[in-house]
Amino acid sequence: MNFKMLYIDGAWTPSASGAYIDVENPANQERFACVPAGNDADVDKAAKAAAAALPAWAATPLSERMEYMKKMLTYFKEMEPQLTDCIVKELGAPVSFAAASHVRYQYVRTQSYIDLAAGLPLVETLPQSTVYREPVGVVGCITPWNYPLGQIIQKVVPAILVGNTVVLKPSQHTPLAAYYLTEAFHKAGFPKGVFNLVTGRGSQIGNAMCDHPLIDMISFTGSTEAGVGVARRALATMKRISMELGGKSPCVILKGADYEGAARMCLDSIFLNSGQTCTALSRLVVPKDDKETVERLLLQLLPEYVVGDPTDPAVKVGPVASEHQFQTVCSYIQKGIDEGAALLAGGLPPAPEKGYYVYPTIFTDVTNDMIIAREEIFGPVLCVLTYDTEEEAATIANDTPYGLNAAVWGPKEQAVATARRIRSGNVYINDGPRDVTAPFGGFKHSGIGREGGMDGMLEFTEPQALFDCGL
Ligand code: NAD
Repeated sequence: MNFKMLYIDGAWTPSASGAYIDVENPANQERFACVPAGNDADVDKAAKAAAAALPAWAATPLSERMEYMKKMLTYFKEMEPQLTDCIVKELGAPVSFAAASHVRYQYVRTQSYIDLAAGLPLVETLPQSTVYREPVGVVGCITPWNYPLGQIIQKVVPAILVGNTVVLKPSQHTPLAAYYLTEAFHKAGFPKGVFNLVTGRGSQIGNAMCDHPLIDMISFTGSTEAGVGVARRALATMKRISMELGGKSPCVILKGADYEGAARMCLDSIFLNSGQTCTALSRLVVPKDDKETVERLLLQLLPEYVVGDPTDPAVKVGPVASEHQFQTVCSYIQKGIDEGAALLAGGLPPAPEKGYYVYPTIFTDVTNDMIIAREEIFGPVLCVLTYDTEEEAATIANDTPYGLNAAVWGPKEQAVATARRIRSGNVYINDGPRDVTAPFGGFKHSGIGREGGMDGMLEFTEPQALFDCGL
C-alpha cells in the first residue's frame, strides 16, 4: 500500500502540499510510515470531485448502491490480515482485540447498514403530502484516532448508501486503516468522486472542509472541545452538522446486582483499547456499604488485564496511542492523587523507554467534584464512587456534562427504572448485548445526532415534503 497518496476523483493522487506526517507505533516509538499533510488545494479538489459525482450517484437506484456496497464489503473482508496488522501498529491495540473489534465488528456494521437500507422510509405518505428523503449532498467526514476504522464505517457507509458523496479526513495519528478501506471502495468500482480521502492535520484539512462551499454536511467524531470549534465554523456556511463527542460514562451497581458481572463489564469497558473508548465506563458507582466487596472483586479480576506488547495474543492492554496521550493520562493520575482520591491499583507509570504503557489504574474514595470524576481522561483509569440511596446513584450518574453511555446492574425492574432516569444515549442493563441496529450518540455535551441503525442512515438525509393532495 502506498500511503504517500490521497484518493481523489477515483484515483490515487499526490498531495499538492508535498509535505508528510509521520505515523508512530506507540508500542516501540518507531516511525514506520508517513501520509500526506494535505492542504486546502487538496480539499478543494476532493470537494469538487464529490460535488460533480453527486447528481448521478443520488439518482442511482438504492438497489444498485447496495450492490456496490456489498462488493466493497467483500474486498474489505479480504484485507483482514493487513488491517489488523495496521491497527496494531498505528494504535497499539492488542492483536486479538484489533482483529475482533476494530476489524471484524466493522463487517457486522457494514452489513447491518446494507440490510437496513432496503427498508429505509425514503418516501412516506402523509394525509395531505408525500415526504421524500433526499441525500444531504457532499458529506465531509472527520474521524478520531481511537477506532481508526470503526468511526469511518459509521459515517461513510450510511452516507454513501443513502446517496451522498464523501470527503473523508481520518485522524493524522492513525490514518493508515483508512487506506485499506479506500482500496476496497476503489476495487468495488464506485463511480469516481463518490468516495475521496484527504489526510492531514485537523486545523488545516478540518478547517478547509468546514469552510468549503461545496461541502453540505460535516459529520464529526472526536473531542467535545474540537467538535464545538468545528460546529461553529461549519455553521458559518450553514452546513448540516452531526457530532459524536466525548463521554464520562457511569456504571451503576444497585443492591442485589450480580456484583462480579458488573465489575467485569466495567473493567472490560475501561481497560480495553487502553481506556481510549468514547463509551468507556469510567465511573463505577457502588452502594457505600458494599464498597469493600466491590473493591475486592476489582482486585481479583485485575490480573486478567495483561499489559504488554500488542502483538502478543495473550495481551489485553497495549500502550496508549501516543506520547501526547501518555502525558495527558499521567497528568490526570497525578491530579487524582493531588485531589485526595485513594489508589486501589496502578498509579503513575515510569517514563516511557520503549512504548507508552500506562498500567490499569483504579482510584477509589472519589467524589463527583474531583477533576478525575468530571473530565474525560481517555486512558485506563477507573474512578469508584459511592452512594447511599438509589436516588443519589442516579444523581451522581447524571452529574456530568456528558451523556453518551451508561450501565446499570441490579434486579431488572429497578435497573430499568434507574436507567430511564439517566440522561445518556445508550444504557446497558445488566449483561444486555450490544445491538448494531440501535441508534448510537450522545445527550448533552456528548453530541448532536445519531449513528447506527435507521437513525444513523436518516441522519444523512434531508426531508422534502410535496403537498400533492388533489394532483
Ligand atoms: P480530536 O477532537 O482531537 O480529533 C478528532 C478529529 O478532528 C481528527 O481527525 C482531528 O484531526 C480533527 N480535528 C481536531 N481539531 C480540529 C479542528 N480544530 N478543526 C477541524 N478538525 C479538527 O479527537 P481525538 O483525540 O482524535 O479522539 C478522541 C476523542 O474522540 C475523545 O473525546 C472521544 O470520546 C471522542 N470519540 C467519540 C466517539 C463517539 O462516537 N461519540 C467515538 C470515538 C471517539
